[in-house]
Amino acid sequence: MDGPFFVVFLTFLMFFVFFLVLLAPCLRPPNCPDCGRPLSSYQPPSTKTWRMWVAGGYLCRNCGCETTLAGEKVAPGTGPPLGRMVLLMTLLILSVGGGAVLLGFTLSRATVAPSPAVASPVVVAPPAAEPRR
Ligand SMILES: [Zn+2]
Repeated sequence: MDGPFFVVFLTFLMFFVFFLVLLAPCLRPPNCPDCGRPLSSYQPPSTKTWRMWVAGGYLCRNCGCETTLAGEKVAPGTGPPLGRMVLLMTLLILSVGGGAVLLGFTLSRATVAPSPAVASPVVVAPPAAEPRR
């Protein structure tokens, strides 16, 4: 019980519990503004709208009402807010640009260096055995 795996596992477990306690109130979804039922924190990706992908939000399983992350009702077909689109595009450009720079740096350093010339060892004939008398 005191091996290195157990120590690492215990460390991760302590951080997991800490962040779970810290973030648990934030992960609790609000109630639906139309029917009052609690909104589900999980939504299948195929049912998400473009606005929900960019800005987040919930879709009520009971009445189909679409809300923001704060639980405010959103009219169907509403696009994402402009600030979120700018943030999304900025992060996308930065990540793709950073990836391109790193890839270019990696490829420029990946040339195959010639192997150093190593002389073959000198072959010495074994001493001849002395003839028996
Ligand atoms: Zn509802």
